[in-house]
Amino acid sequence: MNKLYCLPLGETMRGKFIEDAKQFAYGQALFVVPGHVLMDEVKKTGSVRTVIMDYLPNELLRANNLESYTRISRPAQEMVIKQIIKDLAAKGELVYFSKLADKKGFIKNMVSFIGELSRGGITCEELYAALQAWERPSYLRAKDFEVYNIYQLYRQELKKQNKYDVDGLYRLAIKTLQAEACVVPWEKLYFSEFYQFDNLQIELLKALSKHCTIAVGLFYDAARPELSVATENAYVDFMGMGFTKQLVQEFSPRAEGLEHFTRNWQNTAASVGSATGISVFEAYSVDNEMRGVLGKIKKQLQAGVSCRDIICIVRSMEEYNGFSNLFKEFGIPTTLPEVTGFSAQPLAKFIGKIMKSAASGYQIDVWKELLDDVFMDKIFGIDHEKLEESYNEKYFATPKALQVFAEDMFPQSKMGELFTFIASLKGTNTPADFANSLLLAMDSWSLETVYGEAYKAGNITLAQLKAVVTTKNMVEEIFSEMVAAFEQSGQGKQKRPISEFLEFWEEQAKEKIITLTPGDKNGVKVVEASTIQGILVPYVYMLGMREGQFPKVKFENWIYNDQERKALNELGVTLPLTADTMKIDQYFFASVTAMAQKALTFSYYSDDVAAASCYLQELQQYYPKEALTPIFSTTDVKQCFSADELIGILAQQEKLADTEEAWLTNKVGNDFGARKALDKSRWSENAIFNGYLGQKRQCKYLSASALDNYVQCPFNYMVTNVWQTRPWEPLEKETQPAVIGDLYHLSLAKFLNKHLEENIGNANNAALLAELMHDLSAAYEELIAKGLISESEFSKYEYKRYQKVLEKWLLTEQAYQAQQKINLLPKYLELAFGREGSKLPGLSIYIDEEETIFSGQIDRVDTDGNKYMLTDYKSGLVPSGKAVALGKSLQLPVYILAMENLLSVPQEQILGAGYYALKSYKRVGGLWENSFKEDLPWLYNTRPNDLTWVMEKAQKSIAKGIRGIRNSVFPANPAEKCPSYCPCKDICRYRVSDGMQDVGEEGEDNV
Ligand code: SF4
Repeated sequence: MNKLYCLPLGETMRGKFIEDAKQFAYGQALFVVPGHVLMDEVKKTGSVRTVIMDYLPNELLRANNLESYTRISRPAQEMVIKQIIKDLAAKGELVYFSKLADKKGFIKNMVSFIGELSRGGITCEELYAALQAWERPSYLRAKDFEVYNIYQLYRQELKKQNKYDVDGLYRLAIKTLQAEACVVPWEKLYFSEFYQFDNLQIELLKALSKHCTIAVGLFYDAARPELSVATENAYVDFMGMGFTKQLVQEFSPRAEGLEHFTRNWQNTAASVGSATGISVFEAYSVDNEMRGVLGKIKKQLQAGVSCRDIICIVRSMEEYNGFSNLFKEFGIPTTLPEVTGFSAQPLAKFIGKIMKSAASGYQIDVWKELLDDVFMDKIFGIDHEKLEESYNEKYFATPKALQVFAEDMFPQSKMGELFTFIASLKGTNTPADFANSLLLAMDSWSLETVYGEAYKAGNITLAQLKAVVTTKNMVEEIFSEMVAAFEQSGQGKQKRPISEFLEFWEEQAKEKIITLTPGDKNGVKVVEASTIQGILVPYVYMLGMREGQFPKVKFENWIYNDQERKALNELGVTLPLTADTMKIDQYFFASVTAMAQKALTFSYYSDDVAAASCYLQELQQYYPKEALTPIFSTTDVKQCFSADELIGILAQQEKLADTEEAWLTNKVGNDFGARKALDKSRWSENAIFNGYLGQKRQCKYLSASALDNYVQCPFNYMVTNVWQTRPWEPLEKETQPAVIGDLYHLSLAKFLNKHLEENIGNANNAALLAELMHDLSAAYEELIAKGLISESEFSKYEYKRYQKVLEKWLLTEQAYQAQQKINLLPKYLELAFGREGSKLPGLSIYIDEEETIFSGQIDRVDTDGNKYMLTDYKSGLVPSGKAVALGKSLQLPVYILAMENLLSVPQEQILGAGYYALKSYKRVGGLWENSFKEDLPWLYNTRPNDLTWVMEKAQKSIAKGIRGIRNSVFPANPAEKCPSYCPCKDICRYRVSDGMQDVGEEGEDNV
């Protein structure tokens, strides 16, 4: 007789079923449980064969010699549905979903929705009839019948290819059970710890019940309707199948508070009872929560509790990454394995890069990433770090250019082999050909030998060697799954684009996990709430009792929303609703809580985002007020159970006893005290960590731009001028701002050199422009030849911009020369002083009786033979008038001093110095002799800085700057807002201390 045992919350028939099964020969009784965790529980008894549900149809088909079917995997299902959608779209038969047809997310949702229909046992005919009967506006009917078409074509495709998905196997097994001569290898089936069965499973059980006896243990308590909603469908189904109901009233012994929970939670007649055995722990972070729980477990283990008597339950393991590492830190054995992500493994990344390079064609960045991989060193004989350095010097427009360069740099390497191999992968291949080529190549790299030798030489650890070998096996596994999936989808013989192989690889790679150390079967169990119920454990820790984590709301597939699902349910198409998943979540909470016998600890962490779960608030009504007040984490050294935690606690103490001091020093190093003090001292005035190095240094030679750099920000000066570091910045296809500056510089110098001391104000603009454009072109070619500019798809647009800038400059220059009342004309261009090879010596300045010799280069000096004017071209930012006035921009004052001292031009003959802003095509800023304001058109309507006043201020700033450099005073102290392109911004603490304010503009160097 088939029986349904209706159990109270927290009870199970498992033990009794196992006893009962002993009357059958091994194999004739089958124990069916919902998942692998519970399967292990039953297997431990060793007396009955135990399986999970999906085993049943497979085994039945085998017993009836029908195993020739081909099972289709989930990725293969996706491929079939993707192709169906693509074909429908191509034929114009997708209107509602037309815009989504090629979207990955849509395809995945459609696959999962089709899975819902299948598991619900909905046939194409039933769906069609329901949709026909559904009164909907026409645009929604279009959607309905597109869904129907996809479902029908999917079913037809599987039938045509004689392939089965899991649901198809259930149908085949049900059909087989209906045949007269069907073989059923079991006499009795036991189903335990299920809370629901889908329609196909119920159909299978119905068919099986005609051949063998079935016993089902199910939670169902009519007095607790809220809680029994989760199992109600199953209850009704079994009753409908004619199972005999047997009510079980027994309650296993539990601590008082726990028993109160199992008897009363969501009982219509609930009352307040003792909370003995229940406690709540509140942490401030997920790490703190895990540590707090592990501390409590450690204490129990030390008191003699066995690991087997403790279980940790979480709603989702994803929230508790790193838990197994913490178990290790606390020295507690656990069933959790130590794992790492496959896609983060170097070999997996390298294979992905090869595939991307083959799929990408000519995208240079993809190739650069491939060649900059650590595997390139060991397998192809290059130094990838050295090659990466060259990315900062040179831009490679094509993969070929990069290959030529790299082969030149590493003539002994096997670079050519790699490029030939990738070229061979390009184009279309069948999945098997593609996988074979890659796997053969991987074999030829002899990874085991290469890394085995590296291990022997002590260059890598055993764990790293193991990770390479495991990753290699997993790479083979993914490619074999890929070939199988294409085969199963009927596309195995077709040539497919590499992008499809890459897509498969990327999706599978992110799902795979590498087990570094397997879990300890005798350790503390850690399981997800949905995978376990019906077992009793003395001590239960329920982590993650936090809003958003538990309850965890699962929204149903959006192809049909909840409202539509309700309507479809009424039409006979049974689809789950979001509200149902809430009920199931509540059942998970109740059933795992009911697992505790002696003590139950709820834990969660509370922060600005979320606090305790609503389940905990609900729980309060069953217990006296204050009984469930949370306990908080403590840093009490007596409650510390891990060395790392003890380090944390001791490190925070002002003073330690000798033994503790010695222990701590041994763990964290002798310099720990100094490191600890560092954080404070880095913010103290005059501290070495704040840029006050406290050393004397020579400042015999200084360039005008370096002094400017110091005055702008001493920290920047230290990094770029003292340490002489260069930012790590690979060249992009766009020309660098500094190179653009050089281009203008060169072009203008070439042009003006032909017009020295000539007034071009009224000359023919067209002729001059042609000449200037010719000079630009020559300068451009020079920079290309030097590898500073690379021709790319952008370069012709950029070139137009350069032409425009110079064209406008010429117009302005002619206008200035035509309008100026003093005939100032270019006399010197790029007038260098104190530089190697320059005609003029350096500018000598004595500060505190010590000499500093300045070097520099004045872009342009104009004169009418008596008065002089200096110009500095700027293609990017121009120093503000305020910065010049306050002595925070010293380049022009230094140039003026150079004119006076090196060219013996008396100060009264210098009219001023200013910037030529190429972006706005005009002269701006600087410092000027105000009495000539009306003679110089660029000064009309302006209030220029007074030359004499600024020079006085500047001389003081120059002295202060030189003293600062001599005394090694380099704090992060920007004169103005920090520019976004500051090369030191990633290592500077200014933004941490004060909030860095970018002016947000990329600067092209002055020319
Ligand atoms: S980011 Fe600002 S403070 Fe830091 S180095 Fe650059 S300019 Fe100075």
